[in-house]
Amino acid sequence: MNDFCFSQTQILNILGVEIDRVDFALTLDLIDAWVMQRRAACTVLPPCRQICTVNPEFIVDAQRDPNFAAVLARADLCVPDGAGVLWAARRVGLPLRERVTGSDGIYRICERAATRGWRVFLLGAAPGVAERTAAVLTGRYPGLMVAGCYAGSPADDEWLAIRARLDAAAPDILFVAYGHPRQDFWIDRHRAQLPTAVAIGVGGAFDFVAGVAQRAPLWMQRFNLEWLHRLITQPWRWRRMLKLPVFVALTLLQDKGEQA
Ligand code: UDP
Repeated sequence: MNDFCFSQTQILNILGVEIDRVDFALTLDLIDAWVMQRRAACTVLPPCRQICTVNPEFIVDAQRDPNFAAVLARADLCVPDGAGVLWAARRVGLPLRERVTGSDGIYRICERAATRGWRVFLLGAAPGVAERTAAVLTGRYPGLMVAGCYAGSPADDEWLAIRARLDAAAPDILFVAYGHPRQDFWIDRHRAQLPTAVAIGVGGAFDFVAGVAQRAPLWMQRFNLEWLHRLITQPWRWRRMLKLPVFVALTLLQDKGEQA
């Protein structure tokens, strides 16, 4: 957890992964502070801040991959995505107010960006999807400044082309939609050179905004059934989704271990 404006946040540790106990309001205030801080800097620019949207899959992956765990530990903000994170938080008596997801976050951040004059850049997803996402968002939030859109790829040989576009666009906020953990590794690897105040990995959020993929209806989200909707609409994800019961089992085992 970093310096600026953090006095109000607290940390929740789930299976060794530290998650910030923030809601959307506080997340937006932190982003606001980081953008202002970078815009106000005269000589030495503050580094690009990294936000990770941590769900149970992230936590299971971090158990298996110490490099991914290190990326999450270095991030400036790990927000609680995923109903499983809220469940685990309740179990340890540190309930969270709400999920802070990339799929909702892209709307909330763009709404704030339109009122504050921040420039946003949409990087990732299949060719053309970022442009469609930008069209939806600018229609919804008049005045939103989209500094650029580019599918690109997280492969190393794409970096120089992406960097040139970002340097020309000079965004305040960079949304990266390469799916986890690739997007989070990519931001971590390049963030010293990223010309933006904040970079956030948003997974499949562009696909949802652009209408390429269907998000679960609100009632399913409310009943914590978003995973079921994903399984029905994207059945090829079944192997990845086995991480959900693994997460539950590891959480229960940890509790047992602590009680013993
Ligand atoms: N993606 C991409 N380049 C890659 C791999 C993935 O642009 O090399 C995009 C893909 O098109 C999709 C997103 O990354 O838009 C991944 O979405 P997913 O729902 O799998 O991410 P998650 O929410 O699970 O992190």
